[in-house]
Amino acid sequence: MPTEAGVIDGVPKDLLIGGEWAAADGGKTFAVRDPATGDELCRVADAAPDDGFAALDAAAAAQDSWANHPPRERGEILRRAYQELTDRADELALLMTLEMGKPLAESRGEIAYAAEFFRWFAEEAVRIDGGYATAPNGSGRFLVAKQPVGPSLLITPWNFPMAMGTRKIGPAIAAGCTSVIKPASQTPLCMLALARILADAGLPDGVLNVLTTTDSGGVMEPLIRDGRARKLSFTGSTAVGRRLLEQCAEKVLRTSMELGGNAPFLVFEDADLDAALDGAMQAKMRNIGEACTAANRFYVQRGVAEEFGRRMAERMAAQPIGRGTEDGVVVGPLIDEAAVTKVTGLVGDATERGARVLTGGAAVEGPGHFYRPTVLADVPTDARMADEEIFGPVAPISVFDTEDEAVRIANDTEYGLVSYLYTGDLKRALRVCENLEAGMIGLNQGIVSNPAAPFGGVKQSGLGREGGTVGIEEFLETKYIAVAT
Ligand code: NAP
Repeated sequence: MPTEAGVIDGVPKDLLIGGEWAAADGGKTFAVRDPATGDELCRVADAAPDDGFAALDAAAAAQDSWANHPPRERGEILRRAYQELTDRADELALLMTLEMGKPLAESRGEIAYAAEFFRWFAEEAVRIDGGYATAPNGSGRFLVAKQPVGPSLLITPWNFPMAMGTRKIGPAIAAGCTSVIKPASQTPLCMLALARILADAGLPDGVLNVLTTTDSGGVMEPLIRDGRARKLSFTGSTAVGRRLLEQCAEKVLRTSMELGGNAPFLVFEDADLDAALDGAMQAKMRNIGEACTAANRFYVQRGVAEEFGRRMAERMAAQPIGRGTEDGVVVGPLIDEAAVTKVTGLVGDATERGARVLTGGAAVEGPGHFYRPTVLADVPTDARMADEEIFGPVAPISVFDTEDEAVRIANDTEYGLVSYLYTGDLKRALRVCENLEAGMIGLNQGIVSNPAAPFGGVKQSGLGREGGTVGIEEFLETKYIAVAT
């Protein structure tokens, strides 16, 4: 069995630039902490703007040869990395739990999910297609080719520190793009481990460059404005995404934006209530509630609302809390104290406006950043948590009467990532699915994420899709060649 000290020691702590592991310019480092204890796990290189330029130099220099690398070989590198991730799942899961906090079983689940993106895009690398057509007037032919966008900047969040990386790196590698990736400063270790796995799998120098830094804006903004990078793929909050879109406008970069969510979870009286409760627990508690896809608002039809609230509260109260490395723990710590303060504030606001606490409703004494699984009933629609991502283990329940009302309140948000819907009536299911403003819908199902499916949002939840057959398109340009005949 891997030990905690062993997995931390086994990870590179430097920047990866042009195939070399190097200390940051000026030698600065920053601490990576265990959110369950607050203890320092290790220190990693803290990149400065000059390191950023060196990484972009390396990505730009490697672009042409990488674009000309045979697709089959690009795919085989990903396939070998998939195998390595799978073979080393226990060790990598422990690493993830240590820096991010989620229980080991969930970390293992994320390693498998992350690895699947590599397997999927290994298969997609050899399926990049084109076209040949006759012009409508019969004179001339159209050739259509797909080519790599070019050097790409990738920015990932802390909540899925491995999968949000493979979901971008996989299609970039498959499409023939080089990249510079900047993981979240709270969870850099998974990305560093992943970069070494890819290098060992045969990825040529400079194709993937990794910058860990506490100065995200200072390092990345000059690269976005530089002009050599042709693409930014970002996963994170809508607030930061908006700012990055403005920066991308200057050089008109292609963008993929996977941003925040505010998922409604609708339960109709005709639903299978046991299944709805199972789905509700998954949609709420996956990743301790720290998921963009987390059910943020539960709307339950009046006839079953009381029973749903009571049974959800029983289940939530029974969830064991603790450090994610301990056996049987289901609820790990939140990422930091600011997250606990935010959740505490949102719950306080809801109860001041009349919400009832069915279970939980408070943080757990430190050390670590724990919050009790919480169910609130009678949450008014003007509560702040109806508009803001909770990002914690809190399930606010409100009652609705009619289908129209349910759809209206579900859509009453600037976000549109995912919606969940439980009903036993097929016609209602299709009607509501068509009317919900979301990029993804869980129909009688509490988890939607799947590497083979197109993941992404509408409205202010994002632009573009990751995964599925469209995922690689985000890293490809279409070139049309008009042929005289
Ligand atoms: P965040 O604060 O937006 O940070 C995301 C990433 O952006 C981190 O790497 C962060 O670096 C970096 N960053 C922050 N400010 C930046 C700037 N000015 N310039 C360049 N990079 C910058 O989000 P988060 O708190 O890590 O993640 C949670 C959010 O991500 C939630 O809103 C969640 O819904 C969203 N999310 C969306 C999806 C999706 O697929 N739609 C998936 C997962 C998460 P630092 O770590 O250094 O701050």
